[in-house]
Amino acid sequence: MFWGLLHVTTISNIDLHCHTTASDGAYSPEQVVARAYSRGLNVLAITDHDVVGGVAAAQAEAQRLNALLLSGAPEAPVESYIKPSAQVQGVEHGTLERSAAERLLTIVPGIEISTTWRDEQIHVVGLFIDITNDKLQTLLTQQKVLREERARAIGEKLDRLGFSNSYERCKEKAQEGAAITRGNYARFIFEEGKAESSDAAFNQYLKRGQPAYVKTEWIAIPEAVAAITAAGGVAVLAHPRRYKISNGRLRRLCKEFKECGGRGFEVASSQQKQLDFEYLVQLCVEFDFLASLGSDFHTDNIYRDLGQNLALPDALAPVWRCPEAQQFGLAPELQQRRVILTYAKGNDAL
Ligand code: AMP
Ligand code: MN
Ligand code: MN
Ligand code: MN
Repeated sequence: MFWGLLHVTTISNIDLHCHTTASDGAYSPEQVVARAYSRGLNVLAITDHDVVGGVAAAQAEAQRLNALLLSGAPEAPVESYIKPSAQVQGVEHGTLERSAAERLLTIVPGIEISTTWRDEQIHVVGLFIDITNDKLQTLLTQQKVLREERARAIGEKLDRLGFSNSYERCKEKAQEGAAITRGNYARFIFEEGKAESSDAAFNQYLKRGQPAYVKTEWIAIPEAVAAITAAGGVAVLAHPRRYKISNGRLRRLCKEFKECGGRGFEVASSQQKQLDFEYLVQLCVEFDFLASLGSDFHTDNIYRDLGQNLALPDALAPVWRCPEAQQFGLAPELQQRRVILTYAKGNDAL
C-alpha cells in the first residue's frame, strides 16, 4: 500500500456542529438531515449562529425518515458516501453494513452563540438545549438586534462598493427569521462573481481591515454560557484553534471559559491540522473538559462535510457522557463509529 499517494479520511457517525439556512448554511434543515443519513450519521447537532430556527424542522424530518427506515419503505434513506473510487480500510467501533435500526438519526438541539472576548470573536456552542427556554430566548432576541443592525450596515457598505440590494438578497436566500452572518455575504459576493471563492470574498471584503467590515460588540462569554446552562444544555468552546490568538491567550480563554461554567471543548473539527488537533487533545485533558467534535458544515466542500475527519481519541471523556445528553437518548457508553476510507490522490471525490 502506497499511503503517500492516498488521502485518508474518517467518517464519524456523530457530528455536533453544523449550519442550515436558519443562519449561513447553504442547505435547509431537511436537506442537511437527508445528507446526514446519506453519510451514515446517527447523531447530528444543529448549531446555527445565534438562532434555533432550524432545529424543529430537522427533528421532524429525522422522525419522518427514521419511521421510513424502520418500516423498510422503498423511499427510506440510503447511504451514498463511499464513492466507487474509495477503499474501506476498516471500521472502528462498528461494522460497515448496518441494519435499518442501526441507521436511525437523532437530532440534538443546539446553537452557536457569538461572543466577544478581549476584542476577539469567540464562538460558544450549546448542546442538548431546550430551545424554548425563556432565558435563552431573551438572549437570542438581544443578539438578533445586534446581528440585524450589523447585517444592514455590511449590506450598505457593499452597496456603496457596487453591489445592489445586498442585504435584501441575502435575506431572500436564507429562511425566514434567519441570522445573516458574514458567511451569507461571503457566498453572495462569490455568487455575484466578485471573488474567486467565498473564502476570497471574506478576505477581500469582510474581514477586519477590509472595506465592508463592521465591528460588533457581541455579548460576553459568561452570558452565553449562563443562557445555555439555564436552557439545560452544555456549553462547548467551538473550534478553539481557529482564533487568531497565541497559545498563552488560548489557555487563558480555556481557564475563563471553565470558571464561568463552560464544560465542553471542540477537540475535533473537519479541516484541522494534525498538530492543532493534538494540542487540543492536550488542553482538553489539562482543563478536564468533555470532548466534543463537529464538522462546522456549511456547504459543499470536499474537506468539510458532515462527519468528516472527526475522530475523537477513545481516552477522552466525550460530551455525550453527561446527564444532559441522556435526555436525548444518547447512552453514556455510546462509542463513536469511525469508517476509515482511502482515495487515490488527485481524486477529489472525498
Ligand atoms: P459573523 O458571525 O457574521 O462574523 O460571520 C462569521 C461566519 O463567517 C463564520 O461562521 C463562517 O461561516 C464565515 N467565515 C469565517 N471565515 C470565513 C472565510 N475565511 N471564508 C468564508 N467564510 C468565512
Ligand atoms: Mn464558528
Ligand atoms: Mn458560519
Ligand atoms: Mn459554526
